[in-house]
Amino acid sequence: MISIEQALEKILSYVDVLGEEETPILECLRQVLAEDIYSGITIPPLDNAAMDGYAVQSRDTQGASRQSPRFLRVIDTVAAGSIPECEVEPGTAIRIMTGAPIPRGADSVVRFEDTDEVLRKRSSSEIGVLGEVAAGLDIRRAGEDITRGSMVLSQGTIIRPPEVGVLASLGRSRVKVIRRPVVAILATGDELVDIEQPLPAGRIYNSNTYSVAALVKRYGGIPRILGIARDNEDSLVVGLHQGLNADMLITAGGVSAGDYDVVKDVLAKQGEIAFWTVRMKPGKPLAFGIIKGVNQDGIARDIPHLGLPGNPVSSMVTFELFARPAILKMMGKKKLTKPTVDAVLEDSMVNSDGRRVFARAIVEKRDGQYFARLTGPQGSGILTSMVLANGLVIVPEDKAGVEAGEVVRVMMLDWSEE
Ligand code: AMP
Ligand code: MG
Repeated sequence: MISIEQALEKILSYVDVLGEEETPILECLRQVLAEDIYSGITIPPLDNAAMDGYAVQSRDTQGASRQSPRFLRVIDTVAAGSIPECEVEPGTAIRIMTGAPIPRGADSVVRFEDTDEVLRKRSSSEIGVLGEVAAGLDIRRAGEDITRGSMVLSQGTIIRPPEVGVLASLGRSRVKVIRRPVVAILATGDELVDIEQPLPAGRIYNSNTYSVAALVKRYGGIPRILGIARDNEDSLVVGLHQGLNADMLITAGGVSAGDYDVVKDVLAKQGEIAFWTVRMKPGKPLAFGIIKGVNQDGIARDIPHLGLPGNPVSSMVTFELFARPAILKMMGKKKLTKPTVDAVLEDSMVNSDGRRVFARAIVEKRDGQYFARLTGPQGSGILTSMVLANGLVIVPEDKAGVEAGEVVRVMMLDWSEE
């Protein structure tokens, strides 16, 4: 048996960062920027008003108060997007809207609330200033966000909503990012039925393809569903060959010791393959290797292949531990591990066979402390337990058990926002 770390190291040594693609900015969320972004413009382009009010010379407001307002002559109005034509001279003010450029001569903005505007008729030619304002008040300076020629985002940045906004503010509609991996997914098993079909007695629906495809999508890849291969060599070979255009192939099932588990035999003939029993629970049997073949276009391809166990919980947990880091690495990401927290375990657990246990748990924060309780029975076929869980309690391989009240490390699957 090998450790999780050994298995992961081997897998990561076989996958590389993918090439670049140019993508519309709204389609590259969570992708990694593949170019440095310099600004060709200054933002904001001009000094402008931070509030609706009056552009004035601050000197004119000296001594102003509610009891003795300073009255100024209103000579113009300037809206956002227009260029002021008049200049503010002593004793005058220009009505100004948020975002409008500051007129020449003005050095501050008096907010509407600090004038007698509300007391006046709409088109008054005079305004009373009800308080002193300091020079520079409520003015946003040209270039305070971005200066022309500066580097705004660097290569390697992960695109999140703020980056999308900044790119848009620069007038960029497309950027170069590391492309998303295409992950082909092949289910295996004579017992499996496609979800579009009626369910004959004794058969089960193919769920792994969909949970795995959803995980691929969640972490930024593009799932390619190859359907169901039956438990015979011919069917499997056909399925595998359909996956040869992908960046990675994931199979689920067929890697344990059962009589019909032909994935091993087929893969051994189709490329370099390693079968491991990994010191973990759930998910002991795992296959990894390189599939060699010629795709439909006649091009020779070497595709990393990850053979996940078929039990629905095992395939999801092993995906998180092994497929997710591989996908993230291909996408150019540096942080490949899931976040963990320390939590007080509210149940007791036994670890009888020296493997690292990942137990489905519900993690909650109470009074500044995380608490974790198990979802219930931990059978690796109980997929609904994954619905309940937002984390996996980790019990190290050398620990025979955990008592209720002990602190454990929990790998978070979800930080629920809803
Ligand atoms: P295997 O790894 O092929 O021996 O499968 C282990 C268990 O997982 C068996 O009970 C299978 O029926 C089940 N299983 C395998 N593949 C799937 C799948 N795609 N969807 C749902 N259950 C599956
Ligand atoms: Mg099977």
